[in-house]
Amino acid sequence: MKRPVKAKELDAGSRAGNFEEVVSGYSEEEALTEASRCLQCKEPLCISGCPVGIDIKKFIYHITRKDYRQAYFTIREKNNFPSICGRVCPAEYQCRKACVLTKKGSPFASEQAINIHFLERFAGDYGKNNNLDIPAQQEARFSNLRVAVVGSGPAGLCCAGELARWGVKVDVFESLHKTGGVLRYGIPPFRLSRDILDFEINYLKRLGVNFTTNFLVGKTRTIKELFDEGYSGIFLGLGAGVPSFLGLKGENLCNIYSANEFLTRVNLMSAYKFPEFHTPVNIGKNVLVIGGGNTAMDAARVALRLQKIHGFKLNTTVIYRRTEIEMPARRMEIEHARQEGVNFEFLAQPKEFAEDKQGFVSKLVCLKSELGEPDSSGRRRPIPIEGSDFELACDLCVIAAGLKANQSLISTTPELKTDKYSDLIVDPETMESSIKGVYAGGDIVGGEGTVIEAMGMAKKAACAMIDNS
Ligand SMILES: Cc1cc2nc3c(=O)[nH]c(=O)nc-3n(C[C@H](O)[C@H](O)[C@H](O)COP(=O)(O)OP(=O)(O)OC[C@H]3O[C@@H](n4cnc5c(N)ncnc54)[C@H](O)[C@@H]3O)c2cc1C
Repeated sequence: MKRPVKAKELDAGSRAGNFEEVVSGYSEEEALTEASRCLQCKEPLCISGCPVGIDIKKFIYHITRKDYRQAYFTIREKNNFPSICGRVCPAEYQCRKACVLTKKGSPFASEQAINIHFLERFAGDYGKNNNLDIPAQQEARFSNLRVAVVGSGPAGLCCAGELARWGVKVDVFESLHKTGGVLRYGIPPFRLSRDILDFEINYLKRLGVNFTTNFLVGKTRTIKELFDEGYSGIFLGLGAGVPSFLGLKGENLCNIYSANEFLTRVNLMSAYKFPEFHTPVNIGKNVLVIGGGNTAMDAARVALRLQKIHGFKLNTTVIYRRTEIEMPARRMEIEHARQEGVNFEFLAQPKEFAEDKQGFVSKLVCLKSELGEPDSSGRRRPIPIEGSDFELACDLCVIAAGLKANQSLISTTPELKTDKYSDLIVDPETMESSIKGVYAGGDIVGGEGTVIEAMGMAKKAACAMIDNS
């Protein structure tokens, strides 16, 4: 069998000094070679691994026939943003893990599994570069409907696009000054180029979607006021924008950031464009990032880049309670972080922070941990070893310990029912919330998930809004 085709990447040494996209897409030749490795299984397992059920077998088949147009449209039947998902989907835990070429029982995709995400990116970029906009499905058929979409992350954008394609008049309200949600303020440009994101948002504008930023629904307007203004339905894609903390002694010291704040300052507030922008963000000479997910990897790689750009010696370390295999981050991001020079301290459980004379963080005290039986997540539980304390010096610490539901709207709308995690409760078939006509999807339902999962829920809600109209 042919060897998997790796996508080209910027050289690790030089890329650590800039925010340019690290992975380049496949060339046509590379895409054809990789597509030709697909076994075109009679019963393709990969499709069941995709949260939105893209017909992977079919789109790859179209690529092998050089019919990139059909490949693009096949993906677009299920996924509004192939260029985005081709860049950020954790394919090794989803479609590639289900690929028949992945070894049975493997915790994530084997190297041999087809690089479905790179092929999706290739088809998506082809569509973008050749202006293959999807025509409105049923022109103006539902033009009597007017829907307010709250939040412009992947859930809101997907719902807006889906409805607009049916002729629905859609207004998106976003509390921040820029649209895109985590795609803009969380995921750094070296993983998702802003051109791609802007292209998708401009496409929605061309479909007639109207965007209003700096608009906090729940305060600027309530849900009731939106209905009074004539909206027939409302979609809530509020995300999980509230960071969790560890509850440790010293956690409020200066120079300890949540990953959300750190990444927002850099990505949304343009600190990555230094010296053009002078957004205040502390650059550590000795940075610790606590966590093992995508957010931790992004924070560590951003901190490292800032060190290099500002002429500091590279010194950024990720602290994780378990081992590498249990890390929820995408394998590629872990690999990239390591190549760029990020250090890893595994089996380390943070205990408390120590301060210097000015009240700035100076040390993180940790306990060594060992792995016990698997917990509810299926990963082996970390057990701290008593008396194993050790210290790590730091002048900047970033905590990436998970995110919780954004309560800005929920707290002012008591009729919205939530579960014990404060996530919205919805009907899983329609995504309708406890308020009639108000639907929801993405991280605000079921907690922190993935881009494609958020889009899957949003699409379901959009279909239900059309069906119930
Ligand atoms: C740093 C980071 C890296 C990640 N990396 C990946 C990855 O590589 N792959 C992947 O699949 N997933 C990744 N994820 C997870 C993924 O980004 C989320 O699952 C996804 O963005 C959820 O989409 P959403 O639309 O529900 O929420 P969000 O993207 O959070 O968008 C919600 C939007 O709603 C706005 N909003 C909230 N309340 C209001 C209100 N009351 N009024 C108006 N606007 C409001 C917010 O400002 C925000 O813009 C990552 C997450 C983070 C934080």
